[in-house]
Amino acid sequence: METASYNPYQVAQSQFDKVAAILELDDGVKELLRQPMREYQFTIPVRMDDGKIKVFKGFRVQHNDARGPAKGGIRFHPMETIDTVRALSLWMTWKCSVVDIPLGGAKGGVICDPHHLSLREQEQICRGWIRQVAKNVGPVSDVPAPDVMTNGQHMLWMLDEFEMIHGGHYPGFITGKPVGMGGSLGRTEATGFGVVYVLREALKVLGLSPEKTTASVQGFGNVAQHAVQLYTQLGGKVVAISCWDQGDKVSYTYRKKDGIKIDELRGICDKFGGIDKKQAQELGYERLPGEAWLEQDVDILIPAALENQINGSNVQKISKTVKVIAEGANGPTTPEADEVIKQRGIFVCPDFLTNAGGVTCSYFEQVQCNMNYFWEKDEVLSKLDAKMTSAFTAVYDLAVRRKLYMRDAAYVIAISRVAEAVKQRGWA
Ligand code: NAD
Repeated sequence: METASYNPYQVAQSQFDKVAAILELDDGVKELLRQPMREYQFTIPVRMDDGKIKVFKGFRVQHNDARGPAKGGIRFHPMETIDTVRALSLWMTWKCSVVDIPLGGAKGGVICDPHHLSLREQEQICRGWIRQVAKNVGPVSDVPAPDVMTNGQHMLWMLDEFEMIHGGHYPGFITGKPVGMGGSLGRTEATGFGVVYVLREALKVLGLSPEKTTASVQGFGNVAQHAVQLYTQLGGKVVAISCWDQGDKVSYTYRKKDGIKIDELRGICDKFGGIDKKQAQELGYERLPGEAWLEQDVDILIPAALENQINGSNVQKISKTVKVIAEGANGPTTPEADEVIKQRGIFVCPDFLTNAGGVTCSYFEQVQCNMNYFWEKDEVLSKLDAKMTSAFTAVYDLAVRRKLYMRDAAYVIAISRVAEAVKQRGWA
């Protein structure tokens, strides 16, 4: 498996450079957009449960806020690096732009491992993070959200600290809060459903009806489960699911040729999206090697687990039957594999368009909080469907008109909107 051989920031910048050349961006605009506008790196001293002070390292990177307040998650991870945070901040700008929500891009993090921290220690890290950036973030400047190993509780501690400092209620300052505490209905489903709204539109333009298609999926976590749920509701058949086995420390593919049953698999999976292999066998699932999900004779592949999963060493395994790849994960395809997929003429729904349902729903959460009026779930999901559908249509139309690969078309739209905003503001 190819993994960390890529510096994500260099990848993000080289993707940007390629599109900047297609768009013939001015040097000034190019220089401004290929790097973050602001970066904060700081220490977070915490008195640990054993009475000693431990100093954690925190980051907030605001890539660009020309189109609106910067938006992006905060990750807690022992291997966090400034370059990962920088890359993710660029991708957030493009993601918000491609779905045309009035937000910019940011990302944050803390180098820590929540597995080895008590809840009190985690709360102190959250509050410390806010104290360090309280003047530089806020509902009209930079709106954080949960990401890897952070959740609604972390967001509430952060909100509380922010409100203590600023002396008022600002529920629109942070998203991903629990429902009932300012969170939006539909957020749990949003990313996976968004993947399928985009996939549905892709099938439409390819003249395929979902009920006549089959799919193979990598991952069985939040994104994958909701994508499988909606795709099967549309009549599609998922024949294989690959996920990580925590006990054996390998991934497996679970296959049922007449179609997997989502509820049955949900009943035997843990909270990390790992399927119990013994129970799967009892339910009649074949257990195959982890990469077998790529080799199935299906119409659709949905990578919804991790980055770099379709790479130079396995891209040739993709079955000749595959017509569409709908990228649910962030960065599931390496540039090398992407080139092969492009040559083969497979229709790609690129990650930052396809998985933008989550951030779009976070934007809806922010809107609802700022109004202090909350929508029903159906209303949230129908607004989400409309946003994702129109974003797909804009990208597809451009791809057809300019004979561009879907990923390049999505980048062209996203980057040109931000370039236009910085020009109109007179920044470059
Ligand atoms: P999750 O932690 O809920 O699930 C991850 C799944 O991937 C699990 O089923 C796990 O078993 C599986 N997995 C891990 N390693 C694997 C491997 N080597 N082979 C096969 N399966 C493996 O994560 P999630 O929230 O569903 O996110 C999945 C992807 O989607 C990530 O790339 C994430 O960045 C991206 N994403 C998530 C959201 C969101 O709202 N959750 C939004 C945008 C993008």
